[in-house]
Amino acid sequence: MKPKLNHTFHITFFSIYIICITSCFSFGQKMINEQSKLVKNVDEFQAAIQSINPGDTLLIANGIWTDVELKFNANGKEENKIYILAEEKGKVFFEGQSNIKMGGQYIHLEGLVFRNGYTATSSVISLQKDKSTPCNYCRVTECVIDDYNPPERFDTDYWVEIYGKHNRFDHNYLVGKRNRGVTLAVRLKNERDRENYHRIDHNYFGYHPILGSNGGETLRVGTSHYSLSNSNTTIEDNYFERCNGEHEIISSKSCQNIFDNNTFYECQGTLTMRHGNETLVENNYFIGNRKPNTGGIRIINETQTVRNNYLEGLTGYRFRGALVIMNGVPNSPLNRYFQVKDSEMSQNLVLDSDYIQLCAGSDEERSATPINTSFKNNIIYNNTSKNDVFTIYDDVSGIEFKGNILSPNIEMPTYAKKEISGFKKKELNFTNTDGLNRLKDFPDIGTKSKKERPTADNTGVSWYPKKNYQIEFGKGKTIKVEPGENTLLEAINKAESGDVLVLTSGEFHQTRSIKLDKTLSIQSADGNAQPMITFERSPLIALENGGALSLDGLHISGKESDDYSGNAVIRTSRYSMINNYKLFVNNCQITDLNVNHSFNFLKVYKNTFADSISITSSNFKDITGHVLNLDKEFDDTGIYNVESVVINQCTFENIGGSAVKLYRGGRDESTFGPMIWLSDSKFVNVGHDKRNKNDSAIHLHGVQHAELSNLEITDSKKINLHLIVGDPVIKLKDIEIQNSEEIKSNSKAYQAENINYKN
Ligand code: CA
Repeated sequence: MKPKLNHTFHITFFSIYIICITSCFSFGQKMINEQSKLVKNVDEFQAAIQSINPGDTLLIANGIWTDVELKFNANGKEENKIYILAEEKGKVFFEGQSNIKMGGQYIHLEGLVFRNGYTATSSVISLQKDKSTPCNYCRVTECVIDDYNPPERFDTDYWVEIYGKHNRFDHNYLVGKRNRGVTLAVRLKNERDRENYHRIDHNYFGYHPILGSNGGETLRVGTSHYSLSNSNTTIEDNYFERCNGEHEIISSKSCQNIFDNNTFYECQGTLTMRHGNETLVENNYFIGNRKPNTGGIRIINETQTVRNNYLEGLTGYRFRGALVIMNGVPNSPLNRYFQVKDSEMSQNLVLDSDYIQLCAGSDEERSATPINTSFKNNIIYNNTSKNDVFTIYDDVSGIEFKGNILSPNIEMPTYAKKEISGFKKKELNFTNTDGLNRLKDFPDIGTKSKKERPTADNTGVSWYPKKNYQIEFGKGKTIKVEPGENTLLEAINKAESGDVLVLTSGEFHQTRSIKLDKTLSIQSADGNAQPMITFERSPLIALENGGALSLDGLHISGKESDDYSGNAVIRTSRYSMINNYKLFVNNCQITDLNVNHSFNFLKVYKNTFADSISITSSNFKDITGHVLNLDKEFDDTGIYNVESVVINQCTFENIGGSAVKLYRGGRDESTFGPMIWLSDSKFVNVGHDKRNKNDSAIHLHGVQHAELSNLEITDSKKINLHLIVGDPVIKLKDIEIQNSEEIKSNSKAYQAENINYKN
């Protein structure tokens, strides 16, 4: 057995930090004086950096720097650092295709903002000038990278790559990473990058939208290749907000890392010890607020310590549970799953959270159950109705359970119908302090950190606005639109993001397609009268990058559409959309999409992604193509077109194609979606067109969560399920199937209740 993490090591380490904190904080803008050299362009910067001496300060002039690369090395000294500072923080912007590659030692970089563009290199800020010149003892502080993304969502880059040793990355604000590639990566490629003792602290990792694929981690330390090397990186005092890129918020892929006193606020996913051993996860806060797919901490590998964490309101299932211990692969190759050994999960406080998963991922390949591991003195307390919190997938005899307390409503964990000892039920009294639920009687459980809890206010920078980047309908003006030719088109073109167009009754005819690159609501002025929208060109509305649409109380008819095949009411951009979109349809009639074949309601293209599509209280009638056709990611790499689909109280009548087609191929397990909730709806004569190749009324391929309930299906093709990966949750309930094909599935791994067939 390898030695457990030793405390002396932490304490020494911590003292070094304290020295650093007290000295480093007095730097920064104080270094600006008469000797500081102001540089106004790249040539001046390069000339100045050539002759720079320890203790010197370079000021990057205020203004917008477009398409610049600052590639340099410089060597300061411990007592005389080299300062590269914004002339004034918040006034120096790097835009277009700009990036920084720095190498050397004792360089202090501060106050730059990257926005309105993307890097043409592999990262925005690289702590390595070139392969032979990494940074050592450098610091990047108070920099901002804001929505700095390429137009192609599957072009890969990092925002920050850290190489070398003893670097500090702190008080930075990184928000709106949308393309594939980790936001911040600690690289261990070369020997000189390992045992690095980097410190990543007090950063604000802001909104990271769902990528819809692997490669959306916010932070990664190492890769599988070097995962058995020590990284010795400390990640502390950071604030992660809605970092939803994929199911690993953090992927620790190396040994001896420390995650201490970080806040994860409404983040989808978990802090995952994906590879490597001897990592400590302590005193972190996971606040889910019951948002979907919010998770906690996942253990894989050896000698991992997870203690004194506070986890509240987490709903994530399977690998995204509040606490997860995985099964491993016997003799695992580096890139699979090592068996959990000699690990500890103790003194964690888990409140109102839905899932604790032990031996997670158990299957034919992952058959090595955890050994010599403990699960002790944790408190798991639920005020929600979720009582079956524990899922135990395999033999847990290698885990010692001791001193755990459950709220009385939580069911005792069992395996093979036998109750597991080491748990007792107890009523506890919580006090709410500082927004957290604390237990006076158990001061050692939950975080014990004496440090300030990271929040949006004490991390990142104070001088740059905090960006929300959520699509919010109805935040703008209300604009009345009268019927007529192209009145709607003109109103849409003039409207600003967030506006609501209110249509009075009558006919709105469009002779041109409408391009929408903003958030817009279009609704009826009167709930009882549905204004009629007709259109000649296909599509009626093209959702371009940045577009999001809500339709309410409208009748959209294809009766005036040009006589071509393949028309659509709404389609996405034909090109990659780096921004996710939303589409809401409520109380609408969609009819007469039948001038020619393959007329779809929604048609999407590859490399586009909807966070959410919601269709409620609406009727679709006489349509030759599909209603929702979401099957354009056919490369089988785990990429898909939509995260969540909700269909409620709708009717679908005389639809040639499928009412809904969802496709996610491949065996990747990194994502939550696609997910679908389909309820209280009727299907009549759906799916019979000879061009409907998948021969289904509802076709769900590779979905991760599907709930179909209270449906009536008449004279229609089948519900077709293809379940491939990730223990998908599929529930079918109360479905009447009359004169229609039987449900088809490649697997029996779904729940079906009250399915009735009639002829
Ligand atoms: Ca991943």
